[in-house]
Amino acid sequence: MGQFVVVIGTQWGDEGKGKVVDLLTERAAAVARFQGGHNAGHTLVIGGHKTILSLIPAGILREQVRCFIGNGVVLSLEALLTESGMLIDRGVPVFERLRVSPLCPLILPSHVLLDQARERARGADLFHRDRFASKLGEILDFHNFALQHYYRQPPVDFQKTLDTQLALAARIAPLVTDVTRALEELRAASANVLFEGAQGAMLDVDLGTYPYVTSSNTTAGYAATGTGLGPKAFDAVLGIVKAYTTRVGAGPFPTELFDEYGEHLSRVGHEFGSVTGRRRRCGWFDSAALKRSIVNSSVTGLCITKLDVLDGLDTIRIGVGYRINGEVSPDPPVSVEDYAGIEPVYEELPGWRESTVGVTTYEALPANARRYLERLQALVKVPIDMISTGPDREQTIVLRHPFAG
Ligand code: GDP
Repeated sequence: MGQFVVVIGTQWGDEGKGKVVDLLTERAAAVARFQGGHNAGHTLVIGGHKTILSLIPAGILREQVRCFIGNGVVLSLEALLTESGMLIDRGVPVFERLRVSPLCPLILPSHVLLDQARERARGADLFHRDRFASKLGEILDFHNFALQHYYRQPPVDFQKTLDTQLALAARIAPLVTDVTRALEELRAASANVLFEGAQGAMLDVDLGTYPYVTSSNTTAGYAATGTGLGPKAFDAVLGIVKAYTTRVGAGPFPTELFDEYGEHLSRVGHEFGSVTGRRRRCGWFDSAALKRSIVNSSVTGLCITKLDVLDGLDTIRIGVGYRINGEVSPDPPVSVEDYAGIEPVYEELPGWRESTVGVTTYEALPANARRYLERLQALVKVPIDMISTGPDREQTIVLRHPFAG
């Protein structure tokens, strides 16, 4: 039986999804992106060679994998062509493997200038010159008004934008396909399909700590809407979590560390953005936050990444709840204001001195590493299916493969 598996980051992003998705695609016939845009960054390391992907699904490097960009992805034609050009230069036949939904909302140069993605044109419009010109005219009228009168910037030229977008559209025309139908056919053929999330579930525009969120829905439910399937289309949801926590930019982060432990996580984990180079905030694993994230996305199994980053610590803490106004709560606050003054409640476990880098079997892990993982699993009540012990594909312990069924 083929499996439709959603893979999402279940923290605030940068959980190492790229590596895991790439590894799982070994057994997948297709990989679909369903949300976000080219603002995400995935790092894949294969045979020591690093590739950063933003828009194109991580399965693109594999010969047998068909890649789809679903209707939930906001599409910049420039970004798509730049990224495919980079891959084509490295010998990856992007145009054979990738297909794009005509329903993707477009990111226009004027959206970039306004730093917002308010879309009133979709990919499908690009292939009807008059229809596109009319929608573009409407959008640019609105954008230019804001640019000129609000931001005091020069307007964006209509004719130039129209010509550029249509020229780019002609280049991506061979990629455009009915992604929903293609996925339905794969389901009928009992194929394994992976739905690749970007960013992290706790940055979801509706369920995250607004306003410190991203501009799209990052929880697993959007795998349905963002590809045109329904909620029953999926067999499993694999949640990727770091063995600790990081967060980029502002926003509540109860288990954040400002001491030498945080320093260790940042240094050993190379916690700097793959696209921005920005230093990530680091802290202990927050099982209370993860439990909520598991509910938000119907997570059925976990993949714990970067376990090796904890090597050498004398003690390790796990956040298990919060002290709010003197009371202990097992649940994170609902609104961002309620995070003021809250303190994490921790459990402390002994660390391990041994290296876990590259360990590929559970038994070979140090006893205290196993103890840590077993405690996490008991706290969140979802099985750990995979453990990542290094950036390379090979550096992984697979306990239960999502495509094994
Ligand atoms: P993504 O967007 O979720 O794929 O995450 P990023 O690519 O931004 O960050 C993950 C980083 O961690 C990348 O540099 C990976 O190569 C690296 N990485 C992934 N898994 C592991 C792991 O188990 N151990 C270590 N040390 N690094 C890892």
